[in-house]
Formats: sequence, C-alpha cells, structure tokens
Amino acid sequence: MIIKTADFICSNTQVSKLPPPVKPEYAFIGRSNVGKSSLINMLVGKKGLAKTSQTPGKTQLINHFLINENWYLVDLPGYGYARISKSKKEDWDKFIRNYLNKRESLQCVMVLIDSRLEPQKIDLEFCNMLGEKGLPFVLVFTKADKQSSIKTDQNVAKFRKALLASFEEVPDIFITSSEEGTGKEDILNFVHGINQN
Ligand code: GDP
Repeated sequence: MIIKTADFICSNTQVSKLPPPVKPEYAFIGRSNVGKSSLINMLVGKKGLAKTSQTPGKTQLINHFLINENWYLVDLPGYGYARISKSKKEDWDKFIRNYLNKRESLQCVMVLIDSRLEPQKIDLEFCNMLGEKGLPFVLVFTKADKQSSIKTDQNVAKFRKALLASFEEVPDIFITSSEEGTGKEDILNFVHGINQN
C-alpha cells in the first residue's frame, strides 16, 4: 500500500466522542517508550505526525489519523509507566477497555513489543486480555536495529512460547525498525489485505 495522505483528525479523552465508526480502524498500543510514535511516523512516512511519549500524569488521549482517506490509524495511550499511581492505572484500564469493548470498526490491535527484551509480564497480560475479549491482534516487535537478528529472533521465540501457554495459535508477527524502515511494507500490506475484504 502506498500512503498518499495521512492526516491528524482528532484527540479524544472519551470513547463516546470518537469519529463515527464508518471506516476500518487499526489501534497501536504498547508500553511507554516501546517506539510507538516512531513506528507510526515511519509507517506513514511523516515525521512528527505522532508525538513522542505522553508523560504520566498528562491526560491520556486516543489519537485518530486518517490514512488515504479510507482507514484510521489509532494511537492509543501506552501502558506500563514506571511511576504511575494506582488510580491512574485504573483510569487507563477503564479507558482502554471501554474503547476495545465498544469500537465496532476496530479491525485489529497492533501490540508493540520491544524486541530487545525477554517477554514482559505486562505485555503478556495485555495479549491475554485481548484474547479473552476475542479481539484480533498482531505482535509488532520494535527497535530490531538495536541488536543482532539472532537476538531478536530469540526474544520473539520466547514471546511466542510464553503466549502458547494461553493461546492455541500465535498471532501474526512483524519485526520492525523505525530507524531502518524494516517491516513497513509487511504491516501496510497486512492492513491493505483486511481493508480489501
Ligand atoms: P513511544 O513512547 O512508544 O511513542 O516511543 P518513541 O517513538 O517516542 O520512542 C522511544 C525512544 O526509542 C526514542 O528515543 C526513539 O528515538 C527510540 N526508537 C524508537 N523506535 C526505534 C527504532 O526502531 N530504532 C531505534 N534505534 N530507536 C528507536
């Protein structure tokens, strides 16, 4: 898929105020600092479209970007801030669950995982939550340029194995580097394939 246009549409704190659910939508989420903004900007080829890390304590926003005037790329607030209060965590949980439960145009959740790390409990828990809700998701491993491909493959294999403790099948996996543009075509083709159906 060639990206012709990528436009910021709106930021929302309330699921009830999102754009009408009339276009297919793909939501990007992961731990804070996983490389979500960099990945979004790399995918659409527009530096600065997604802003880097929202800091804890700031209002958490759902950002909608309209791509090629026919699908939404959605930037969801990250999870796993080191020093977040319990009440902020509960707010995030409620907010995200509300979005995931209600957004009928949501096609797939793109779960970003830092490829440098061994499987993290918080990422596995998030995947399990998606599985329990029966929501389609894929795994997008980020920052692959930061280590050897052998190391990346090892961490991906460990994550797959950890997921197989609760899933019969592992979802699609993409390995990406925003620095080098790795994974861009594969992810855009994946989205294109779903949009065609
Ligand atoms: P976010 O908090 O998930 O939106 O993460 P950012 O996109 O702001 O990235 C966090 C940090 O990781 C920044 O310093 C980025 O420059 C860096 N980063 C993100 N993606 C990559 C990548 O693919 N390769 C490298 N080398 N650094 C990356």
